[in-house]
Amino acid sequence: MSATEAETQFATTTTKKTKKLKPARKQVKPGEVEKKEAPQTGKEYNIWYNKWAGGDREDNYSNKTKSQTRCNIKRDAGLTRANTTGNKYCCLFFARGCCPYGWECEYLHMLPDPETALPDTSKDCFARDKFADYRDDMGGVGSFQRQNRTLYVGRIKETGTGPETEEVVRRHFKEWGEIEKIRVLQYRSVAFVTYKSELNAQFAKEAMACQSLDNDEILNVRWATEDPNPTSKVAEKRRLEEMGREAIQAKMDPRIVEAMSAIRALEEGVELDQDDMEDGRESKRPRLIGDASQSPEPAEQSSPPPQEQPQPSSGILSSDALESLKYFAEVRKKTGLGSAAPPPKPVAAPPPPQGLGLGDYASDDE
Ligand SMILES: [Zn+2]
Repeated sequence: MSATEAETQFATTTTKKTKKLKPARKQVKPGEVEKKEAPQTGKEYNIWYNKWAGGDREDNYSNKTKSQTRCNIKRDAGLTRANTTGNKYCCLFFARGCCPYGWECEYLHMLPDPETALPDTSKDCFARDKFADYRDDMGGVGSFQRQNRTLYVGRIKETGTGPETEEVVRRHFKEWGEIEKIRVLQYRSVAFVTYKSELNAQFAKEAMACQSLDNDEILNVRWATEDPNPTSKVAEKRRLEEMGREAIQAKMDPRIVEAMSAIRALEEGVELDQDDMEDGRESKRPRLIGDASQSPEPAEQSSPPPQEQPQPSSGILSSDALESLKYFAEVRKKTGLGSAAPPPKPVAAPPPPQGLGLGDYASDDE
């Protein structure tokens, strides 16, 4: 009784606001797990230096031997030192059910929180470096080039219909995070499990590696290859773009966002209307030539010159001119001169560049 009281006390004093207000349990006693298979003795990870050297440590041997330990979130999750130090990464050994440190661990002993962005997107939820490419066998940490939320789960012993197998897979895999969908390939011992968050998929991959479902099998859990279905490809692309856009916009000054879209319009060959182009040339050109090496001051931007030359010179689209246009578009937005954003509207194809250099159009103007 007094022990639980002490636990509660500890929990309430050490945490801010976490759901599980208890210190993490030590999943194994030191020496309890047979050394030859214990993943925590893996040579690449040094828990004292908080470092991984080469995250890929699976091999054929470990992949065919049943894991001796399994994480049980309800029983094992809890507070660790990471909750006070602010370390956002999960304990790999906790995921595998064999962290002997419990509340003394420097890593989180809880599921990754999909709402929390990791400090470094090139790492997985266990702070292991991702790689540019997947390994040939789709094992290991995975790639930073593609967000993968789907696990390939092989070597399932099917004892029922497809839906029954799906129920079994769901029961075992939902422990590691919210599942978006499960697809079972009946008679092929394979299921694909898609989590809502990539972080949960990362965690589940470690938690279920070499574990069993209901029939004492030894699962083979890997990253799924990209879904070849074109519809889901498009949907996934859109989902990622949306996520990226929201993340960026949340951090950016709205005026810059506006400027960026104007610049994008320029880059894609959609020109701003003629007035803007005139402004750009007039005010930008002298500075380009005069003090090209110095950083330009936006303060110099004055009102647009009154006289409008209807005919832009033919060299206008040299790369230098385009650069200055882009820059000017941005500056205008920043200094607020652009009033409402000029709606980029398509204009007839630009006059073919005549190969006029910087000097040429400087002289034709002055
Ligand atoms: Zn741990």
